[in-house]
Amino acid sequence: MKYVLVIPDGCADEPQDALGGKTPLQAARVPRMDAIVSEGILGRTDTVPASMPSGSDVGTMSLFGYDPLVFHTGRAPLEAAAQGIELGPHDWAIRCNFVTITDGNMASFTASQLPNDVGEELIGLLQEATAGNPQWEFHQGVSYRNLLIYRAKDADDHPFDKGTSTTPPHDLTDQSIEHDLPAGDGSELLLDLMERSKKLFAKSAKNQKRADGQPPATQIWLWGQGSRPALKPFQDQFGKTGAVITAVDLLRGLGKLLGWDVIEVEGATGYTDTDYAAKGRAAIETLKQSDFVVVHVEATDEASHEGEVEEKIKALENIDEHVVGPVHDYLKKQGDYRILVCPDHPTFLRTKTHSHGYVPFGICGSNVRPDHANSYDEVTASVSNLLLPKGHQLMPFFFGTLTN
Ligand SMILES: [Zn+2]
Repeated sequence: MKYVLVIPDGCADEPQDALGGKTPLQAARVPRMDAIVSEGILGRTDTVPASMPSGSDVGTMSLFGYDPLVFHTGRAPLEAAAQGIELGPHDWAIRCNFVTITDGNMASFTASQLPNDVGEELIGLLQEATAGNPQWEFHQGVSYRNLLIYRAKDADDHPFDKGTSTTPPHDLTDQSIEHDLPAGDGSELLLDLMERSKKLFAKSAKNQKRADGQPPATQIWLWGQGSRPALKPFQDQFGKTGAVITAVDLLRGLGKLLGWDVIEVEGATGYTDTDYAAKGRAAIETLKQSDFVVVHVEATDEASHEGEVEEKIKALENIDEHVVGPVHDYLKKQGDYRILVCPDHPTFLRTKTHSHGYVPFGICGSNVRPDHANSYDEVTASVSNLLLPKGHQLMPFFFGTLTN
């Protein structure tokens, strides 16, 4: 039996005036997603607990069957796993953005997409400045996205805990940072490093006079901290081998921590220009050796962040035609299967950001008795009797007897 989960990231949304009161899913031509619902069932679930910020790190953990209230420790440990950085049981990973802050405002949470060569120099300066304390490790990522690792000496060495609070810099764009600096346990260590980075970055000529003419990175911004999540391998939890196809580090990391194969696809960009058909083909290829394959497409989320309704519809139609269609056709030909379509969280065009609330899911395949729904969208799902209040209930439901 083969299983596929397709995640159109952030596709769930509200009715839009620009679409005559329809949601993007209702307005888009998605006959293959609709077919999953008419051949199978439509329901809704809530992937992001109300007490947690909405995002793919929380939402996909739910979708994969793990309660984020129990297992989610932060974004940085997932990104560390994606980069192959091993965390010991007491180590912490912290996201380290290069940012530009002017007059106390977050002018750019990407330091205007800082070039990698400037980033390399700045990471070198940070590592040099903290050389006296070998517990700090800076790891360069791509552009402005880096990681800071705190290597604990032993179990008693734990400056940070759940009460350490930090703010994602992308939530502060054009706003004052004054009330959103790190606070709580260990925050003095983070604030000290952030403060020290200001002087280091001011000294770097490569940063101050950038070849691309953009303003310099003024400092680091530390956030998303966490220790290694205690996730049971997926195969032990659900008895299925897994693989994930994604262009996003958070999902790569989560996949690695669950013991999945992480499949890289040429042309997968994590943006609206991604090669959808290549992802569809890779999913079919991967199904030959894996019981369960996740295909994640970020484009729908990106279009929502940009507030581009037409782009969101186009991304949905591309996922429908080039991923859901060919994968479903292949599954039917090869034998027993189930296919599930569900986003990780809603992303509203109106607010251009992630939201809480129900997302619709559709399932069809072997031993799935059809209900009466025939359209994959939020409005149709909202009157379905099939309601899984917690997102992590969906995976056992999907693999099981489909009773809630
Ligand atoms: Zn997003």
